[in-house]
Amino acid sequence: MSAPVRHVLVLGGTTEARLLAEALAADPAYEVTTSLAGRLAAPRLPAGRVRIGGFGGPEGLAAWLRAEAVHAVVDATHPFAAAMSAHAAAGADAAGVPLLVLRRPGWEPVPGDRWHRVASLAEAAALLPRLGARVLLTTGRNDLSPFAGPDRLPELDALWFLTRSVDPPSGPLPANVEVLQARGPFTVEQELALLRDRRIDVLVTKDSGGAATAPKLTAARELGLPVVVVRRPPVPPGVTRASDPAGALAWLAART
Ligand code: NAP
Repeated sequence: MSAPVRHVLVLGGTTEARLLAEALAADPAYEVTTSLAGRLAAPRLPAGRVRIGGFGGPEGLAAWLRAEAVHAVVDATHPFAAAMSAHAAAGADAAGVPLLVLRRPGWEPVPGDRWHRVASLAEAAALLPRLGARVLLTTGRNDLSPFAGPDRLPELDALWFLTRSVDPPSGPLPANVEVLQARGPFTVEQELALLRDRRIDVLVTKDSGGAATAPKLTAARELGLPVVVVRRPPVPPGVTRASDPAGALAWLAART
């Protein structure tokens, strides 16, 4: 008799989540559901089943895991989706379902990089006036408030910002701004062209890690530009981790 098909919930929103869902959907031993937050108007849909929208906190997630007879959860959300990761840890624990965090490694500086690592977007904003006057912000469309919200530092209004995001920003915008709507990945050549064309002199990014968004770091290095890199929030304590989809597949296989 063959083993029962195992239902895996992938908390998605990343390239790694899509790759994992693709591998699981192709394997008859698994049924895979990917959950997306619903932030993007037109998300890239992964293989397998997809559900969209919040669960209603850890209790809602635990109820969903029980109702859908989920065997394992893989939290493959973005490294900065800290609320979802905390809710995944609490919800999976409450439902007694094993949880793995799939998180790609963060970026490391190489010779030539001029990085300023900071703990938060607010710290990044505070540092900017000392680093340059024309800023490329690639921190995400929902994270502009330290640069644009009512509590922003007054010095920031003297700077010029280029924001880049897939969908247009939702909240207030900086005083001097160009909004660029674009979906990566971008090549090093494209990033160099953008930095030169807009005469950018400082870049702000989260430490998302991964190859897809790294060309902006290479381009900044080639032009000798400073980069403000926001550190990641910690992974919930006690949760097993994998750094790539192959590691997640091995973890799942070991749980049969
Ligand atoms: P967040 O602050 O950690 O999440 C806020 C709430 O959104 C969560 O409590 C949860 O609601 C819901 N949520 C988040 N991810 C979800 C998912 N995959 N499936 C179902 N509900 C989800 O997260 P965020 O920073 O807003 O990011 C939202 C999504 O965008 C994530 O899936 C992440 O992978 C992706 N993303 C985030 C970033 C970033 O920089 N933050 C960048 C690229 C992609 P309930 O508590 O009601 O379940």
